[in-house]
Amino acid sequence: LSSTKISAIPGDGIGPEVFQSVVDIFDATQAPVIWDVIKLSTKMEGKDPISPEEIEKVRANKVGLKGPTTTPIGGGHVSMNVFLRRELTLYANVRPCVSVPGVKTLYDDVNLVTIRENTEGEYSGKEHEVVPGVIENLKIVSEKACLRVAKYAFEYAAKYGRKKVSAFHKASVMKMGDGLFLKKTREVGKDYPMIGYEERNVDTACGMLVANPHLFDVMVMPNLYGDIVSDVCAGLIGGLGLTPSGNIGENNAIFEAVHGSAPDIAGKNLANPTALLLSSIMMLRHLNLFDHADKIEKAVHGVLKDGVTKTRDLGGSATTTEYTKAIISRL
Ligand code: NAD
Ligand code: MN
Repeated sequence: LSSTKISAIPGDGIGPEVFQSVVDIFDATQAPVIWDVIKLSTKMEGKDPISPEEIEKVRANKVGLKGPTTTPIGGGHVSMNVFLRRELTLYANVRPCVSVPGVKTLYDDVNLVTIRENTEGEYSGKEHEVVPGVIENLKIVSEKACLRVAKYAFEYAAKYGRKKVSAFHKASVMKMGDGLFLKKTREVGKDYPMIGYEERNVDTACGMLVANPHLFDVMVMPNLYGDIVSDVCAGLIGGLGLTPSGNIGENNAIFEAVHGSAPDIAGKNLANPTALLLSSIMMLRHLNLFDHADKIEKAVHGVLKDGVTKTRDLGGSATTTEYTKAIISRL
């Protein structure tokens, strides 16, 4: 079996600590990947966060795993995440929220996937002052972006044996913009007769989600709604330490935890590496390395269900390295 070269972007803050945990676990299970470490230029004021040579490496490797990066405040360069999304056209943001054994929340067996349009909508960044005191904040909706994210949602549902795709929208108010999103999603859905399809107002859907998360399966939606709905879902399974994500494009995919660089606990060996680890498992499945993904997932779930070795955020006292060792011993 040949190995796949993967871009490794450890990030900063707790990034390098949780990244090391993934590297150690991949080593222990002999996952067939070769890490190609990408250098960031975090201290270059006013420049791109990554050099043209390094971005070409990321592009050529196609798949990458990324630790959190601290967003510069004020006049520095743009955030690494925004830069990568734009540079590589990572148009779909996939955020699975699956109950983790041993982490008690209001509901058992939550199994939801938010697929969020990642390039335009309310986050197109186009706003200006029309006249003093009046701001125009543009929500851009293109046929192309609606089609590709809808297609990804149904392909994802088909690949992972999901039963239903729900499109969340507010087309009653935004008749043209969200109307176009619905029209394209509906069109794509016709090509997937085996997968159920429904449309829900995003506000109604949020109420339904917290009252009974089992009503939904895969959910696809415009950018802003996806940002909010995915955090609602994260709350249903126990929060940021446990939520992975993937940024998917036509040619590239970058997987990362949903959480940030946690400066308050950085460098102290206290971080919970689970979210990045679950992201790396998503990455293995994206690469069709299902055996390695299943094996690591089983070990993580085993340790969490056991409840003996837990990091501080989950009420335990284990360090990052102790928790990592416990997972390795279960592989
Ligand atoms: P954060 O997610 O870094 O931290 C929020 C709280 O959760 C903190 O108390 C932190 O200690 C805790 N926490 C987060 N991850 C944890 C983990 N793995 N284990 C244990 N505890 C954990 O959010 P923030 O403080 O708002 O952001 C810090 C920096 O990260 C900011 O610069 C922000 O812009 C950036 N950020 C980056 C990304 C990314 O790179 N994808 C995402 C979000 C935030
Ligand atoms: Mn968010």
